[in-house]
Amino acid sequence: MIIVMKNQATEKQIEDVIRWIESVGYKAHPSRGVERTIIGAVGDSREKGILKYAESLPGVEKTMSILKPYKLASRESHEGDTIVDVSSVRIGGPEFVVMAGPCSIESEEQLMESAYIVKKGGAHILRGGAYKPRTSPYSFQGMEEEGLKLLEQVRERSSMPVVTEVINPADVDLVESYADMLQIGARNVQNFALLKKVGQSRKPVLLKRGMMTTIEELLMSAEYILSSGNPNVVLCERGIRTFETATRNTLDISAVPVLKSLTHLPVVIDPSHAAGHWRLVIPLSRAAMAVGADGLIVEVHPQPELAVSDGMQSLKPEKFYQLMDELRMLAAVIKR
Ligand code: PEP
Ligand code: MN
Repeated sequence: MIIVMKNQATEKQIEDVIRWIESVGYKAHPSRGVERTIIGAVGDSREKGILKYAESLPGVEKTMSILKPYKLASRESHEGDTIVDVSSVRIGGPEFVVMAGPCSIESEEQLMESAYIVKKGGAHILRGGAYKPRTSPYSFQGMEEEGLKLLEQVRERSSMPVVTEVINPADVDLVESYADMLQIGARNVQNFALLKKVGQSRKPVLLKRGMMTTIEELLMSAEYILSSGNPNVVLCERGIRTFETATRNTLDISAVPVLKSLTHLPVVIDPSHAAGHWRLVIPLSRAAMAVGADGLIVEVHPQPELAVSDGMQSLKPEKFYQLMDELRMLAAVIKR
């Protein structure tokens, strides 16, 4: 149920409604918009009849039932689009935000060089994985805390915010002490313990769609994070598994407008893991901007032929510069 406050409702009236919602056993999630405050009352839906009573409380305009199973992620529960602030980089606003960097953190030199390249090209956020969820236990698993320390050094020297993946609830406290944004990878989209843990974090979360998750399941995963108290979630479409084998995954480009109609959360595209090949990354990135995504996360490596993971899909520096030039031209054409 959502409770829509009148636009002239006072702070005291809002606080009183929140207290009342909690007194009848629900959790209150206020969303303070420019015009008015909307309060999501989330809990066991079997007895939600009682919440109708909120209509007689001072300052309340109306109550509305949200029929969708994702309550806080749904458009109805929030006025306008959510803008997620990642250490002053705003995702979901007018700017098309580019996160770029290597798949894995490999060494200080490799990470510093990557940061230099992506910053020069105009990227806003540096990516790099210290904990790698690999299909094979024999593949490189990431530099772990040593990698996080490199990330911290490069973050300071390049003055770029960083996004990095966390794969284990026990590591969330450590990873969030180094990162500006926590990535939940495709394989962990339904790791509910991990979702609840990052939901208790103050850091924004980049939530990737799993290769076998529906859009509704992705939104339910976002709901785990939101309902645990973290309102800063960015959704990422990174390709799903289909019968097609010509690409690593199939980029579900239609997920962007579908998600945009269902949720107020920002949506970005990862063309690298979708395609699996660097040649497809620029065309898919153009499609991402044209279809209305809020940004991209893309793999870039100073020497992809030497990368310890995902070299085939990583852009060389010149290709990254080309991508950024093309995006600037496209932004001017589509008036983004
Ligand atoms: C990654 O970003 O390097 C990664 C492992 O991505 P995904 O979870 O989308 O496979
Ligand atoms: Mn990768």
